Amino acid sequence: MKFGGTSVKDPEAFARVASIVNREKGNGAVVVTSAMARVTDALLAAFETAKAGDSSAAFSSLGEHFARHEEVSSELLGDQSRKAFGAELELAKEELSSLLMRVERRSLPLQMLKDAIVAYGEQLSSRLLTEVLKAEGLKARHVDARRLIVTDDEYGSAKPLWDETEELVRGDLESSVEEGEIPVMGGFIAANRSGETTTLGRGGSDYSAALVGAALDAREIQIWTDVTGVLTCDPRICADASTIDVLSYNEAAELAYFGAKVLHPKTIQPAVDHGIPVRVCNSQRPEERGTMVLAESGVSDNRIKSIAHKTGITILRISSARMLGSYGFMSALFQVFERFRTVIDVISTSEVSVALTLDNTEYLDKVVTELERLGDVEVEHGYAVICIVGEGLRDSSGLASKIFSTIDDVNVSLISHGASSVNLTFVVKEEYVREVISRLHGRFFPHSA
Ligand code: ADP
Ligand code: ASP
Ligand code: MG
Repeated sequence: MKFGGTSVKDPEAFARVASIVNREKGNGAVVVTSAMARVTDALLAAFETAKAGDSSAAFSSLGEHFARHEEVSSELLGDQSRKAFGAELELAKEELSSLLMRVERRSLPLQMLKDAIVAYGEQLSSRLLTEVLKAEGLKARHVDARRLIVTDDEYGSAKPLWDETEELVRGDLESSVEEGEIPVMGGFIAANRSGETTTLGRGGSDYSAALVGAALDAREIQIWTDVTGVLTCDPRICADASTIDVLSYNEAAELAYFGAKVLHPKTIQPAVDHGIPVRVCNSQRPEERGTMVLAESGVSDNRIKSIAHKTGITILRISSARMLGSYGFMSALFQVFERFRTVIDVISTSEVSVALTLDNTEYLDKVVTELERLGDVEVEHGYAVICIVGEGLRDSSGLASKIFSTIDDVNVSLISHGASSVNLTFVVKEEYVREVISRLHGRFFPHSA
């Protein structure tokens, strides 16, 4: 059972989580929690302030968030556990203060310090939640996720090492769950083989839950969030987006990859590998079923299940006469992206040119310099990828025409269709994204409410 930041944002939210976990207490639950809402952002901002040279301002900026933890503790815990958590919080403050000073002085690699700092969000929320569950009468036990999830050394978006992680998770949690204990751990945080703290990337608590669920061969991986399941589109764009009952793993993976923030893009793979259903549900409305993600979902009447989008996209166009009728050109092209660890999202080719999109432009200059050896390169910023997802989409005649006729006054810069059977992806200028999605949602989900 994974609870996101908004599900542990204040005392009422913690109390709701306690009652949700209580309902599952006989079923062998493991709890994974995110940091309290806004805490990860605050820790990252404090890191930046310290990096700019003011570690004491950085530390002070965290004061309101320490107070939020104290508020939960004083509202929900008894004397003794309040004291125990208070001591934990004091220790965290001292450690954070010294880490922020190290950032200012650059006394350790910054990426390493950044993960060490940002991990306090989950360390504190998971300790606090453990005490709250105990106060509810549950046999909760805090587990430091950094002892169980082993990753490589890529700070900020570390990759879990599966075999070691599986063994540690099983070794620590399996018998404890059988004995009726409820292990509680922070999501998002892990450690490399030398024991230094790493993190799995923003939104990575979903991924932690999937890894733990897979290692334990869980009956279900539950993602508890602030909306009822995966919706027909981002509710911040269409207020009338409605809950999808069932999604296939493929559909969910495409939606997550192309921006549906409700699931971290890597969450689905461990579930697929172990055939475990993923349920996405609302911690504010626990009685609602939410969305089930299963191996198969079936084809919906209008073929489309949901529309995802991702902004801040850059298009690269590479043209080269050398490409004409030659082999090996694509391979040379991909090697450039491999060398600079840059992921390509959407790609489309013609006789002598290739267009592709990136959302990580950290190494863009270097990528472009290398690509210029292969041909002429154009770079265009400010685009959005829109991804329409549904089983059977590739085999539906007339659907593309329906989609594009709905937005025929908007220029579409790139289209990708047919690579997977479940998606149709295209790229438009960022400023049109709300309009395009609202229109498509209105056309394909006219009755949602
Ligand atoms: P948590 O803190 O629980 O991990 P997130 O903020 O990461 O929650 O993800 C939930 C949010 O994802 C929702 O509040 C919603 O705004 C956003 N979202 C974007 N696309 C979708 C979608 N298709 N279905 C549901 N939520 C979506
Ligand atoms: N707290 C982390 C973040 O905000 C991880 C998570 O919430 O999943 O990105
Ligand atoms: Mg999330």
